[in-house]
Amino acid sequence: MSTNGKGMSLTLKVLIGMVTGIFVGLAINLGGMNAEGSFINEYIVGGLFHVVGKMFVSALKMLVVPLVLLSLISGVCGIGNLSTLGRVGGKSFALYMLTTAIAIASAIGLAIIVAPGKGMNAVTAATFTGKEAPPLTDVLINIIPTNPVQALASSEMLQIIFFAILLGISILMVGKKAKHLMQGVEIGNEVMMKMVHIIMSIAPYAVFCLIAQSMAELGLDLLGHLAGYVLVLVAALMLHLFVTLMIILKVFSGLNPVIFLKKMRSVQVFGFSTASSNATIPVTLRTVTERLGVDNSVASFTVPFGATINMDGTAIMQGVATVFIANVYNVELGVMGYLTVILMSVLASVGTAGVPGVGLIMLSMVFTQVGLPVEGIGLILGVDRLLDMIRTAVNVSGDAAVSSIVAKSEGKMDVAVYNDPDAGLVDDADLDIDEALELEMAEVIHQTHDQQ
Ligand code: ASP
Repeated sequence: MSTNGKGMSLTLKVLIGMVTGIFVGLAINLGGMNAEGSFINEYIVGGLFHVVGKMFVSALKMLVVPLVLLSLISGVCGIGNLSTLGRVGGKSFALYMLTTAIAIASAIGLAIIVAPGKGMNAVTAATFTGKEAPPLTDVLINIIPTNPVQALASSEMLQIIFFAILLGISILMVGKKAKHLMQGVEIGNEVMMKMVHIIMSIAPYAVFCLIAQSMAELGLDLLGHLAGYVLVLVAALMLHLFVTLMIILKVFSGLNPVIFLKKMRSVQVFGFSTASSNATIPVTLRTVTERLGVDNSVASFTVPFGATINMDGTAIMQGVATVFIANVYNVELGVMGYLTVILMSVLASVGTAGVPGVGLIMLSMVFTQVGLPVEGIGLILGVDRLLDMIRTAVNVSGDAAVSSIVAKSEGKMDVAVYNDPDAGLVDDADLDIDEALELEMAEVIHQTHDQQ
């Protein structure tokens, strides 16, 4: 990995943080040092790791709303014409749905062949309370915010996307008179990207803390009981990430999948350690634009849209879980049953917010539809934390792959940047404060004050 001659790259540091986090966390878990009330449990795992990890995830979430709003408005202005915008929207929606449907169909296929849970008969003591699916009509109505400020305040991603696009279009329609507003938004976007760099500079330590805490608290003994389920699920996730998605990327865009996977490593680590596609948006957006060369006019739309509606990893989990629970409860689903599962999971993935653990809650919707006992979900609850981390890494990879495909097809990708291994690498030098720039800024502010 290149270091640009300015010290270790951030990606490498984050990877080191992740690997040491796994080792330290597992050592704490396997060494029994995480006993309730022990010093390590109270002050290290539940104290230091928890606080640093949580603060970092909060910092990432802090960036999401202003970043999505500003980059999307400037993106729409950058596209500059409505039909291109419509095409980008249509293509990304179609590709997101297609990849999710392939993901779940292959996951079900693999699970049917391996048949995890056959003969397990663990119909005991499982409890889980499900969730009603919101009617499709409500989902559609809710895309439009009645109050945009409230949408921003509660991070309603689809509502924010809708409002930002409309705002961008309106700025375009006002034209010249709105030039300063457009420039202001663009500068604001640049400032937010700088903030992403600042927050990411602490990522190696935060990723270490997040992963060490998860590993320390992991119920490893549970993994044994559910080994079949876990193994099939992880295999299906890896198959999708390394084979299916990469074939789709190559076929639809001609881009080199190896470069894609290399550059996506840090995004996957963020997805893995936060278990949230939404919290990973700032990192995905930065990587897709600065490392993969996707123009902001495409990425600003496809990335947050994907984080909200595209959940390949989650759909795979739902497929494998359905087959597993059907086996455990000896329910024969049949072809119609599986087709319903595919349809429901694709819909559920649209309705699943990119936050930790919701995929499992949405699974109850799928179960209800095909008549599987919802309390069966209780059986897999214990191992879901780790699996959520892995499937989120797959979810965010799908978002970036589709963004790259759409950008390439629209001529909105700088292929030279994509192919350059060093493009957009962040290192400490990026955060050096340029004193001359600071003084220049202070001068501007003084002049403004003097004029008033
Ligand atoms: N945690 C996943 C995500 O944010 C959603 C899920 O599967 O629970 O992408």
